Amino acid sequence: MPEANTLPRKLLIGGERLNGDGESEAVINPRNGSLIVNLPQASAEQTDAAVAAARHAATRWRRTTPAQRAAYLLAIADAIDSQAARLAPLEALNCGKPLYQVCDDEIPASADVFRFFAAAVRNQHAPAAGEYMQQHTSLVRRDPIGVVAAIAPWNYPLMMAAWKIAPVIAAGNTLVFKPSEQTPLTALILADIFNDILPPGVVNIVLGRGEHTGSQLINHRDVQMASLTGDISTGQKVLQAAVRTVKRTHLELGGKAPAIVLKDADLDAVAAGISRYGYYNAGQDCTAACHLYVEKPVYERLLTRLADQVSALRFNQADDRHNDLGPLISQRQRNSVASFVERALELPHIELAAGGSIPPGDGFYYQPTLLAGARHDDEIVQREVFGPVVSVTPCDDAAQAIAWANDSQYGLASSVWSGNIGRAMAVASELEYGSTWINNHFLLPSEMPHGGLKRSGYGKDLSMYSLEDYSVVRHIMISHQ
Ligand code: NAD
Repeated sequence: MPEANTLPRKLLIGGERLNGDGESEAVINPRNGSLIVNLPQASAEQTDAAVAAARHAATRWRRTTPAQRAAYLLAIADAIDSQAARLAPLEALNCGKPLYQVCDDEIPASADVFRFFAAAVRNQHAPAAGEYMQQHTSLVRRDPIGVVAAIAPWNYPLMMAAWKIAPVIAAGNTLVFKPSEQTPLTALILADIFNDILPPGVVNIVLGRGEHTGSQLINHRDVQMASLTGDISTGQKVLQAAVRTVKRTHLELGGKAPAIVLKDADLDAVAAGISRYGYYNAGQDCTAACHLYVEKPVYERLLTRLADQVSALRFNQADDRHNDLGPLISQRQRNSVASFVERALELPHIELAAGGSIPPGDGFYYQPTLLAGARHDDEIVQREVFGPVVSVTPCDDAAQAIAWANDSQYGLASSVWSGNIGRAMAVASELEYGSTWINNHFLLPSEMPHGGLKRSGYGKDLSMYSLEDYSVVRHIMISHQ
């Protein structure tokens, strides 16, 4: 583990790197519960200064051309790649995730998001300019919104920062970014990168707790838009602040992704897919394939295969390359996961097919767990667990699976597994989820939109749609007289 005094700790405000003037927050290593570092948070005055810096920088930044902004974004992407050896170990340390997964998945994905938005901002579309009234030419502009406050969760700190920052600055806005108080370390390395590359004030990074710094940002009258990835209850606070201050919002909230398995599915592929995408990142993923509706003729066969695969998942191995998943982010999160499983197992119809307990030893680990026989109305099927726990529910047919999948407060991600693409498409077309994978789950190319329906929120991350969310269309009419 690096020495605490070698870790990044400074905020980025208006092109200056500053120690926080607020209280210190302990950053904990989830693999063993030890202290990584105590980081001073931003004071209320510093958070105000970050908003003021973003506001000040907005005038010049909005006048840069798409090509100029693209060049900045490409430089940031290159810097993420070239600083991977600095970023990846810190991300793995702060989140407890296997280092190879950060190197293979999160770092390239984060760099790619900046590359995608560099290209996207040079390729925006609008209706044809023309004379929609005689003697008057109309045209549509797409302009920045202003100062955006972007607030991120702890599950993929680096990637969430990329998703939040790249489209915002590509669209010509400036921003104040607040990472989760639990996972601030790589955002502070990004702060180095932004400070080297961008004009002062375009991106500002402050540390702080949600109820202090986060709340100050979403309620700030000089912030024109609040963008949150987080819990539904936090999203509600953003909406309350937006009512008070009249600002735009972009909400990526919780998820509870169903995987619908039809009787003609390739069961080996399902077992391999779910054991990977139900448990990746220890299930702390709003798109995790965390509950299955399986047509009854294949239910028992799939369960056996899945139980074998889930039981073989590895964690807490001394050689990190052998770990499929890491611990939960905190003791609190681990205890929450454990209590979901305890309550599920109190129901007589639910059987434990794999895992089900807190393993001995240090760290916030929880065994990869498979619960069989869950019913659609059970808490474990209805509520987001955000841990390495998957439930399996038998169903009569595709129609019942669709009705159950749609009977959810969430609407973020889903998947359908079938050997008949027409049948799978028919099911996919009925689902009320922001994304549906067929014979896969989880994959998010930068070109495609990610975002929810219902209480999973609204607004898209990734894709051209995100660029649209972080900009406004304006009509300009030119009189010929
Ligand atoms: P959280 O809502 O507790 O925290 C998210 C961020 O909001 C943190 O930075 C936190 O400091 C901040 N925050 C908390 N209270 C605030 C307040 N009153 N005002 C302003 N900011 C505040 O969520 P979490 O525990 O960090 O993350 C887990 C949740 O995020 C899960 O529900 C998960 O589903 C969701 N999530 C959603 C997506 C998605 O794309 N839809 C992606 C990842 C995580």
